[in-house]
This record gives sequence, structure tokens and C-alpha cells, in this order.
Amino acid sequence: MEYEQPMNEYLNLKTANCRKCYKCIRHCPVKSIRFDDNHAYIIAEDCILCGNCFVVCPQNAKEVRNDVEKARALLREGSGVYVSLAPSFTANYTDEKSGQSLTFSAMEKAVKELGFAGIEETAVGATLVKQRYDALVNAGESDVIISSCCHSVNQLIQKYYPDVLPSLAPVVSPMQAHCMDLKRRHPGAKTVFIGPCISKKAEAETYTGFADCALTFEELSQWLADESIALTYVEEETADKSLARFFPVSGGILRTMKKENREYAYLTIDGIENCIRAVEDVAKGKLRKCFIEMSACTGSCTGGPVMDRGGKQRGGKSFYPVRDYLAVSSYAGGDDFMTASYPAEALTKTIRSRSLRKIHLGETAVSEVLRKIGKTKTEHELNCGTCGYNTCREKAQAVLEGKASLFMCLPYLLEKAESFSDDIIKNTPNGIIVLNENFEVHQINAAACKLLNIDPPAILGDQVIRILDPAPFIRAVQEEKNAYNKRVYLADYEKYVDETVIYDKNYHIIICIMRDVTEETRQKEMKENFNRKAVDITDKVIEKQMRAVQEIASLLGETTAETKIALTKLKESLL
Ligand code: SF4
Ligand code: SF4
Ligand code: SF4
Repeated sequence: MEYEQPMNEYLNLKTANCRKCYKCIRHCPVKSIRFDDNHAYIIAEDCILCGNCFVVCPQNAKEVRNDVEKARALLREGSGVYVSLAPSFTANYTDEKSGQSLTFSAMEKAVKELGFAGIEETAVGATLVKQRYDALVNAGESDVIISSCCHSVNQLIQKYYPDVLPSLAPVVSPMQAHCMDLKRRHPGAKTVFIGPCISKKAEAETYTGFADCALTFEELSQWLADESIALTYVEEETADKSLARFFPVSGGILRTMKKENREYAYLTIDGIENCIRAVEDVAKGKLRKCFIEMSACTGSCTGGPVMDRGGKQRGGKSFYPVRDYLAVSSYAGGDDFMTASYPAEALTKTIRSRSLRKIHLGETAVSEVLRKIGKTKTEHELNCGTCGYNTCREKAQAVLEGKASLFMCLPYLLEKAESFSDDIIKNTPNGIIVLNENFEVHQINAAACKLLNIDPPAILGDQVIRILDPAPFIRAVQEEKNAYNKRVYLADYEKYVDETVIYDKNYHIIICIMRDVTEETRQKEMKENFNRKAVDITDKVIEKQMRAVQEIASLLGETTAETKIALTKLKESLL
């Protein structure tokens, strides 16, 4: 089936970098990656923007959309642009010299140099949000309440578990609440959120009127570097703390809530796989009276995919749970931020189902796909996950959906390659011997055994000197030079062979290919003998003739000379 899919707006593939390792597919919790034309493309419609594929790609082939130009354009409008800064900044930015976490005042100084009118912490919005969560719990109307601050969790439920939507708190995120508050206090102003998250870009564009642009910490760092603005330590102007600054660490939302309704259990789930398990339980109706703080990233926002910290490490997240927690907690605590009060409706958002149309083609179709890659019995289904899918059946289903290619199965390709080379080695008339670098026989084919009249088990693992002169192999290794089609006489076997010796340095093996040319060499020798004899006879005939010529020279005259020429020509042609 053809899969037509637009580019993901927020996260895209740099095709030249993709080396088809399937690592992103393995780490994608919803398998929203289509492997096509040997590249791993993101399926925008299915993606929940968790950022796993961006983080794990060892080739840096996934790229987050850069919105710095959009932020610059807002600044150029001149109506005043305010930054809403995610509280995880304190875990992200450290002073290069002292190693201390950067203060809010340091961030303020830097963004004002960029031209922003002001900056505040998103934690102000978090204070409003946690008040709504407490209100929902106190109302006790929903058996299960899932926090909705994490846009990836929201998308997971919207796209894959729409039945769970009634359990998702219909509350705006801290980013939305804060931007709304900023706009109320600064009429006509614009807002730019800056944080460690890719999915906030989608949230800003889905719910318009709150954040006008969402940047990542990486984008901010690059922007500051481009403008030659240094981020350096500045003493904090105020020692005020706030509980809501705990929001970006795992359990941080619960820590700020009052949790007055004792009927509810209050728990934290982080990491997208854990979120999926928990949401499945909610979908099955297995949970009662729970408030679940849910974050797609392990460690919550401090484990966000675009935490910068001097650049993403290739193929892994730069996440330090203890260090990050300490950085946030040393800055958080005390009382709530003082905020204006808003009616519940102002902090309410409607989270709609975006349920995906999934096609399940059934068992027969899946079995047919498996059959094509040689999996005709259950024991053939290795479920090794190398293709990126957890099971062979899951991968077969992806093939039917047009997301995976049939031959993305390493065990199958290996078996195919092995049986292909086995067929060649078994059936070739040439003798093939493979040695290791200790000149021990590693492999020998039937043709070589026949040629040398040996039994394979008897020689495997033994030194090659037992069956062949090792000199050509030693030379190949020492000189790192291959020898092709060299005629060799194997005196012990009374055989002539054309011998090719190849030293494969990468795989530490020496390959010897022998073509038996005994018959052909003997034939040639016989022919040469025959020719030699014919020449001898001709010589004798010439000699005899010459003697006769001398005797009757005067009689034959010129005729004799002609005969000599003719016979000499005959001799030359025989030679
Ligand atoms: S993880 Fe591997 S397959 Fe995925 S984009 Fe990176 S290089 Fe390509
Ligand atoms: S961002 Fe997450 S959901 Fe989207 S393709 Fe990457 S791993 Fe999958
Ligand atoms: S055996 Fe092949 S299809 Fe099955 S999980 Fe492993 S790589 Fe995927």
C-alpha cells in the first residue's frame, strides 16, 4: 500500500545523514516512522512529538524546525515581546567558569540584549494550573484525572486512546496560562515560550492566542551565539522562591498541589512507555480514584529532548536526574507565586479526539507477509526487534500499512546471504580454503577436499602446512598483497592448480581459490611433446634432403633451393 504523507512540520529527516540503522523506529513509542527509499521518515499524522527519534539518532539525522526567524519577526513588529521561560532553564544553563546554574537574572539580561521587552518564568502559569488540578480533584467528578501539561501525553491520548480523553484534565498548560496572563498584563504584546520541548511548538500552533512562538533551549543558545551575547552568571536580584518551580521535575506537579481530597491516590508516571502502560489501564477501566501526573519524558521536562547543555550527545540524551533535580530544587520551594485569579473557563481547554484511522488486514495477510521472508512456522518468528518493531507480527502489520519494507529483517537477510554464499561455495568446481591469521584452516569446500583428497573434519582447525605449502599465505599477510591465478604444481598431489590468494585484512582471513588445471596442463604438455617430435623429424628430413641435394646439386639447381624454402616454412609453422 502506498503511504502518502506530508513532511512533519516540527521534526524532519536530513536524508543524507540517515544510515538506515532503524534505531529511531526501535525507540519510537507509536511507530510513527515510515521506512522508505532507505530512509526513516516521520509520519506527521501519527507522531506525538516525544522527540525520542531526535535524541537517539546516532547520525543526527532528525532535525527540529528552527523558529528563531519567527521570533525575530515578532521583535521587528515592535509591539513588545515577552519571554515565558520554562523553569527547567536552571538545569539546562550553567555558568562556564563557575559551573553554577545560571540565575533567572542572567537569563533576563541575555534575552533583553536580544530585544525582548521582558521575561518571566512559566512557573507563574504553573501556579494557576495546579490550582485548577486541585479544584478538579476536590470536585471528584472523574475517577481518573491525568495532568495535561505535557503536549506529547495529550497527543498520545488524542491519537491513540481517544476513549481516555474524559480522564485528561481539561486544563490549559503552564505555557498557555502564563502567556495568557502576560498578554492580559501587557495588552498588545506578543509572547515567546522557551523550553526543552519539541511538542510545545505544536501546542503553540494548535491553541492559538497564547504563545506566539515556541523556541527550544538549543535555538536560544544558537541565537545568543550568533549575536555574540554571552550567558554569564549574574547574582539573583531577589531571593524569592516558588513551589511551582518544581513543575519540570518528576513529581513536581504533585509537590505543588494541596491534594486535599484523600479519596484519590496521587502518583507520578514519567517516560512514554510507562505512560502508555498507564493509559492502557485507564482505557481498560482498571484504575479508580487516581490523580496521575504524567510526563512523556523520563525525569519530566528536565529530561526533555531539547535540553541543550552544550549540544546533544550523538545517539543519547544528556539527562542527569540527580544533578537536574538539585539544580531545580535549590531554586524552588517556599510559597506560590502571587497570581491574579481567573475563572475556571479561562483556564479550560478542549482536548479533541484526533483518532487515527488504522487498518488491520487480519491474520491471513500478516501470515502472507511473514511467509515471504521465510517465516512459515512460529519458531521462525524470532521477535528480536532488530527491524525496529517488537515482534515479527508487528513488523508484518507495518509492512501492510506501508510503513516498513519487507526486507527490513536482519536475520532473514543474513540467512539469505549465508545460503547464497553456501550454495556458491558448495557447488563451485573450484577448491576454496579459508584460513585465519594463524594459518589454520577455517573453512574448506568439497571441491578442495576432492582436489587434495582429504576429509574436511580432519583438517578444520589445523595448520594449513599439513595440506599445502604455507608460503603464499604468509606472503599475502606479510606483504598485504593478493596473488591472482598463479600456476602452481602441487607435487604431493601431482596436480596443477591456478591459485588465487586473497588476504582480507578487515575480516582477518586468507582465502585461497584453486582451479584444477591438471588435465589442461597435461594436454598442453602432450601437444608440446608432439610438436617437438614433429620438428625433430622435419629437421632430419631436411638434413637428409640436403645431403641428397649436395649429391645431385648440379642436376636440381634452383629446384633444390625452393624445396629448402618450403621445408623451412613447414618447420617454422610446426614450431
Ligand atoms: S536512527 Fe538510524 S534510521 Fe533513524 S534517522 Fe537516524 S540513522 Fe536513520
Ligand atoms: S517524535 Fe516520537 S512519536 Fe514522533 S516519530 Fe519521533 S519517536 Fe516517534
Ligand atoms: S526476526 Fe526479523 S521481522 Fe522479526 S523482529 Fe527480528 S528483525 Fe523484525
